[in-house]
Amino acid sequence: MRPAVLMDGTALAARLMAQTAERAAAFTERTGVRPCLATVLAGQDPASVSYVKMKQNRARRAGLDSRDVTLPGQVSTGELVDMITGLSHDPAVHGILLQHPVPAQVDERAAFEAIVPAKDVDGVTMHSFAAMAFGLPGPVSATPGGIMRLLDRYDVDPRGQHAVVIGRSPILGKPVGMLLLARDATVTYCHSKTVGLPGIVASADIVIAAVGRPEFVRRDWIKPGAVVVDAGYSPGPTGDVAFAEATERARLITPVPGGVGPMTIAVLLSQVVDAALAQTS
Ligand code: NAP
Repeated sequence: MRPAVLMDGTALAARLMAQTAERAAAFTERTGVRPCLATVLAGQDPASVSYVKMKQNRARRAGLDSRDVTLPGQVSTGELVDMITGLSHDPAVHGILLQHPVPAQVDERAAFEAIVPAKDVDGVTMHSFAAMAFGLPGPVSATPGGIMRLLDRYDVDPRGQHAVVIGRSPILGKPVGMLLLARDATVTYCHSKTVGLPGIVASADIVIAAVGRPEFVRRDWIKPGAVVVDAGYSPGPTGDVAFAEATERARLITPVPGGVGPMTIAVLLSQVVDAALAQTS
């Protein structure tokens, strides 16, 4: 078999960013204001600090305003909720991103739910999740949204395909499975209590790895000709799929880095412009 074709998330994200910049410029010309993303960071976790910086830099490069809110690591749930509620009511802010994970003492769900649905550009609230599950328009969880765009770009039609999602987190595994279901895939969710995982993955036409364990998915788990999307990101950087092994079996595969990662920010910023348009129309 020929080695898998790489699904180039860097190139697709650059294209989406260019479209976002054009849409942002048109919005600014019409309204006199820039679409504005507020980022909220609690604490100083180095990875979170660098993710937030990256999101702000990309936002500015696309012609968006970014407002940076940094709170101490000892922040309480009430203080964080109050801050986010203020941003939810601020007409100058169109989208809100709460960087997660939040510090251990904070009720993360309560903090997410303080984001008013119209500004939930990262698709983390229960409202966005339910709307997505019902197939209604609105922001989707950013990484799953990026995965679906990558599949479309490489003409992968999920209809009738067996998609196996490894991982069931509310921001990644669960929503990507629902988006695949909405596109008529037959979806199997796997998680830490799943019995016989390699055999289940071996029956997948589309594998979505969203586990957070480096090189967890091995060569023999992959059906020849499968499409493999690796959403994992561990220091290295390394994905959740043993990449060199998997390229021998897969038809299409996302690299790490350069696959799913760049798509997440691109979808987030695109959804900021969507939110700005919806709030001013
Ligand atoms: P998470 O909340 O820790 O969820 C991990 C999931 O993997 C859980 O559902 C867990 O099952 C499952 N799991 C753990 N061990 C397993 C095992 N041995 N067998 C089968 N399933 C197992 O992680 P997450 O936030 O979804 O992130 C997953 C990965 O994606 C991480 O590497 C993260 O860095 C990456 N990520 C990347 C982006 C991006 O932009 N590229 C965005 C978000 C996340 P249980 O539910 O049973 O515990």
